[in-house]
Amino acid sequence: MNKQTRVLVTGAGGFIGHHFVSMLKQRGYWVRGVDLKYPEYERSAADEFEILDLRRWPDCLQATRGMDEVYNMAANMGGIGFIHAHKAEIMHDNVLINIHMLEAARLSTVERYLYTSSACIYPGYKQDKPDLEPLKEEDAYPADPEDGYGWEKLFSERQCRHYYEEYGLETRTVRFHNIFGPLGTYDGGREKSPAAICRKVALAADGDEIEVWGDGLQTRSYCYIDDCVEGIYRLMKSDHREPLNLGQDRMITINELVDIVSGIADKSLVKRHDLTKPQGVRGRNSDNTMLRQVLGWEPQISLEEGLRRTYWWIYGELEKKGQIDKNEMLSAAEAA
Ligand code: NAD
Repeated sequence: MNKQTRVLVTGAGGFIGHHFVSMLKQRGYWVRGVDLKYPEYERSAADEFEILDLRRWPDCLQATRGMDEVYNMAANMGGIGFIHAHKAEIMHDNVLINIHMLEAARLSTVERYLYTSSACIYPGYKQDKPDLEPLKEEDAYPADPEDGYGWEKLFSERQCRHYYEEYGLETRTVRFHNIFGPLGTYDGGREKSPAAICRKVALAADGDEIEVWGDGLQTRSYCYIDDCVEGIYRLMKSDHREPLNLGQDRMITINELVDIVSGIADKSLVKRHDLTKPQGVRGRNSDNTMLRQVLGWEPQISLEEGLRRTYWWIYGELEKKGQIDKNEMLSAAEAA
C-alpha cells in the first residue's frame, strides 16, 4: 500500500463510487470524490469532495488535477426502465463524460485509469434465451449491445484501449454484472431489480400481491457490492489491459430472486407479472474464467447473504420515512 497515492473517484456520490471511496480510505489512500451530488444516505469518507459536472471539459480538468489514479464511475444510468426510456440523454451525457475524462486524465499525467463498463455491452443474440452459456469477454463482438446505454459503454471501452495504444495511458476496463447492496438507489425510477424487489417486498403485507416486470423467467446473476469494490481494486493493480467481467456466475430467474427476498422477509407473496414492462435481455450470466485467472480471486459473498443485508437496509430506510406500518414492524422484528 502506498499512502501517498492520490486517487480520484468520479461518481463518488453514487452507489459503487461511494462504497469504493470508503474502501480506499480504509486502505490509507488520499481520495478526491467528484459528483453532481453528495452521497444520499451517509457522508463521504473522501478527503475532498467537489461538486462538478463531468460533461463539461473544464470540470474534468479540475477533477483530474494532481491525481495519480482515476476510477471513473460517473454515469447517467439506472435500471432497465430508465435506460430503455432515456437512450438519447444517456448516450449524450456518458459520451461527453468519458471522452472528456480520458483526455483530462492524459493531460494531467494520470498513471492509471479505470473505466466502469457493463454486461450491457454483450450482444443481444447471445442473450435471447433464459438458459444460456455464461458470457465470456471475447463474446462482445460482433457487436450488438443494449441500445443506447450499451453502445456508449462499448464505444468508451474502445477509446480506453486507443488511449493506451496511442498515448501509453494505462487503462483498465471492468464489465459489471448487476451489482447490488446497501446504500444504493431503491426507489424513484432508477433502481435496479434487487433493490426494487426488496422495496416491494418490504412494503407488502404477508399474503399480498407484488408486481414483477415480465414473466419472471428472465435470468441474471447478481454480485454483492463488497465483492465488487475488491474486484475493481485488484483489477487496477493488475497488468490486464483488456476488459474483464466482474460479477457472480450463479444464474437465477427473477421469480427465484423474489422468492429469496420473500423468504428473508418471512412473507408469502403472490407474483403479478406485468408483461408490458421492459425486462431487458432474456438471459445473462458472467463467465468468470478470466476473472479467476487475472485476479486470482472471485466474488465470495452468497446471493442470500447479500440480499439479507440489502433487504434489511432498505427496510430500515422505509421505516425511517414512516412507510412501514406498525403491525408489519412487529412481524419484521420476528423475521429479522
Ligand atoms: P449510480 O447512478 O449510483 O452512480 C453514478 C453517479 O454518477 C451518480 O452519483 C451521478 O450523480 C454521477 N453522475 C452522473 N452524471 C454526472 C456528471 N455529469 N458529472 C458528475 N457526476 C455525474 O450508479 P452506480 O451503480 O454506482 O454505477 C457506477 C458505474 O458502474 C457507472 O459507470 C455504471 O454505468 C457502471 N455500472 C453499474 C452497474 C450496477 O449494477 N450498479 C452495472 C453495470 C455498470
